Amino acid sequence: MLRVESGSCTRYYSKLSGCKKCEEVCPTKAIESFEGGLKAFNEKCIDCGACIGVCPTEALRLDNLDLPTFFFEFIKSDEVAISCKKNFVCLAGLNVEYLIALKLVKEFVLDIGHCEECEIKEQCFPVIERNFNEANYVLSALGKKEITAEKLKLVKDENVSRREFFNIFKGLTPKKEEHNPIAKMKEKSLPDKRKVLLTVLNKVEKPQEYKLLENEHLTFISDKEIDHTCDNCSLCYRICPTQALSTTSRGDKILFEPILCLRCELCHDVCEKDSIHLTPYFDTKEFFEPSQKVLAQFQLVRCEECGNLFTYLGDQDEELLCPRCRIEEEEAKKLWGLG
Ligand code: SF4
Ligand code: SF4
Repeated sequence: MLRVESGSCTRYYSKLSGCKKCEEVCPTKAIESFEGGLKAFNEKCIDCGACIGVCPTEALRLDNLDLPTFFFEFIKSDEVAISCKKNFVCLAGLNVEYLIALKLVKEFVLDIGHCEECEIKEQCFPVIERNFNEANYVLSALGKKEITAEKLKLVKDENVSRREFFNIFKGLTPKKEEHNPIAKMKEKSLPDKRKVLLTVLNKVEKPQEYKLLENEHLTFISDKEIDHTCDNCSLCYRICPTQALSTTSRGDKILFEPILCLRCELCHDVCEKDSIHLTPYFDTKEFFEPSQKVLAQFQLVRCEECGNLFTYLGDQDEELLCPRCRIEEEEAKKLWGLG
């Protein structure tokens, strides 16, 4: 069964979210997006896992596919190939982070021998190709060997039933439908795929030199900058699902940790002034020596009316009024015919 975890899907965080990657990749139209949400039609779902492979926030789950369990079982096993007819679902279900993490700990090939005749190749093969190329782009910048893909056409053991086949991926405690999506949103946790990648990166040798990756060629992580139009409205760091974007206890800076970014685009989607942008490059140093940058810094002053601190943008000559008191003052003036 395909489940949508609303506490993780960007569409439930904000109706401004433009994400519909899962809907676009689904070969059977089993997912439909609507303003502020998503619906899964399980009667149409064929358990291919492609939607799971493209979701930035791991908001979709198939009951019988547990990727961290597959990851750890595969690296322990003697298997040296990942194949959709032998030990995995559609290869589109393996996102860039799992591909990189797997290659950093084990030699393996991707079996693309079944893709040509596959009835869902039109939607899924471009995703397999893109993830494969992106993972190799990152691996080569880290000075590591690239993943290879071969037309092996492996098939599963005839004695293994479909149910047992899917149980290969089944976690010890399959995740059930979430109970409290709001609590999940507030939790600001990292998805499993990022935790797995960070665990692996922590164990591998650092490259001799760090390289710059072109941000536009990455889909799973990003580096960012904020321009002078930002007024510290706070939406971007309040909505960021992982705390990649955050603020100080005073709220006078916008901070960013690239290694925590999922490239879900929520911060861009909600920014009314379009002040947040991708930088041209992502430094591979972030994978091994993560940094927290100050993207913007503000002067906070006390409102002369209510006494609360607010972001002073240098745009007030006379009274120092916070935006709320300024609106109230303007409304009062209109009411008394003074405006
Ligand atoms: S890909 Fe993930 S975040 Fe995007 S709409 Fe689908 S479930 Fe939501
Ligand atoms: S920084 Fe922006 S793109 Fe990255 S995880 Fe946070 S909201 Fe998503």
